[in-house]
Amino acid sequence: MVDLRSDTITRPTPEMREAMARAEVGDDVFGEDPTVNRLEAMAADLLGKEAGLFVASGTMGNLVALLTHCRRGDEAIVGDKSHTLRYEQGGMAALGGIMPHVVPNLDDGTMALEAIEAAIRPPNVHFPRTRLVALENTHNLCAGVPLTAAYTRRVGELAHARGLKMHIDGARLFNAAAALGLPARELAAPADSVTFCLSKGLCAPVGSVLVGSAAFIAEARRARKVVGGGMRQAGVIAAAGIVALEKMRARLVEDHRRARRLAAGWGALPAVTVEPVHTNMVYFAVDESVPLAAQAIVAALRERGVLLLAVGGRRFRAVTHYWIDDAAVEQAIAALGEVLSAA
Ligand SMILES: *Cc1c(COP(=O)(O)O)cnc(C)c1O
Repeated sequence: MVDLRSDTITRPTPEMREAMARAEVGDDVFGEDPTVNRLEAMAADLLGKEAGLFVASGTMGNLVALLTHCRRGDEAIVGDKSHTLRYEQGGMAALGGIMPHVVPNLDDGTMALEAIEAAIRPPNVHFPRTRLVALENTHNLCAGVPLTAAYTRRVGELAHARGLKMHIDGARLFNAAAALGLPARELAAPADSVTFCLSKGLCAPVGSVLVGSAAFIAEARRARKVVGGGMRQAGVIAAAGIVALEKMRARLVEDHRRARRLAAGWGALPAVTVEPVHTNMVYFAVDESVPLAAQAIVAALRERGVLLLAVGGRRFRAVTHYWIDDAAVEQAIAALGEVLSAA
């Protein structure tokens, strides 16, 4: 199957499985797992921060970061299309008593600086205290667009000038770095905390890392424990994360190249409109001239060995990753052509 539904479906590589089998382990809640410690140090170094914390998922990383930055009744400024607002069950409110202050995301994944500024509450007994601004890079719902270093710096300056912290949900931060041709630490520099996923384009089976100052990570370690994220011999999975960081970052540009090829191939079909491709995500729409419902198109593609997601209306999403090679891309292009011309 050519599985373009998400880069989360990536299975570990043979080298990862090998590293997992050989991993030196200890009890990580005691801080004694050498492989977890190594992964955390490596992640912190890559992002230019003092310390790292291995967590089970991106959702847990964002939640732990918010629980650490904010107290109950505090407010966090988040984009209306952010993953944290849309797809994390409102964990900040449900578990942390943190109020999201929602600001519109523009098509380029940013929030207007004036809109962020206007959302910051002045001191007043009626108001919650604004504590945090959260960005998302790359921005998932905004077609995987990377936020620039300049924009990130400006938001960081604004936040810090107003006494706020800045968090980056960098689930795909290394895709942003690859697309912009910048070291990831440059995108992370203005932030007080950053999470990124090992389990997406980087191909590891499980896990994310949260990075920040040593003092922040010490507090975050407590928050991770209270949400049940204290794992024991977690080196078995962290070992795959180390391979992910060492071997998989440099090849993300290949996923981006294949996404552009998919977009060009599909975009040449008469009834298809492809949105601009920035990283490894291709969003496209099939117009009404094709007498097939979105789910029927998905089903017909499945019969031809191609999986992708319908994301509402007549819009679809495909994501390239390690297990999608050039032949898979050509198969996916041909399959959509067949499905649409047969309709
Ligand atoms: C996938 C994703 C997450 C959450 O990661 P999980 O590991 O699936 O919990 C958070 N933010 C963004 C932008 C994501 O794409």
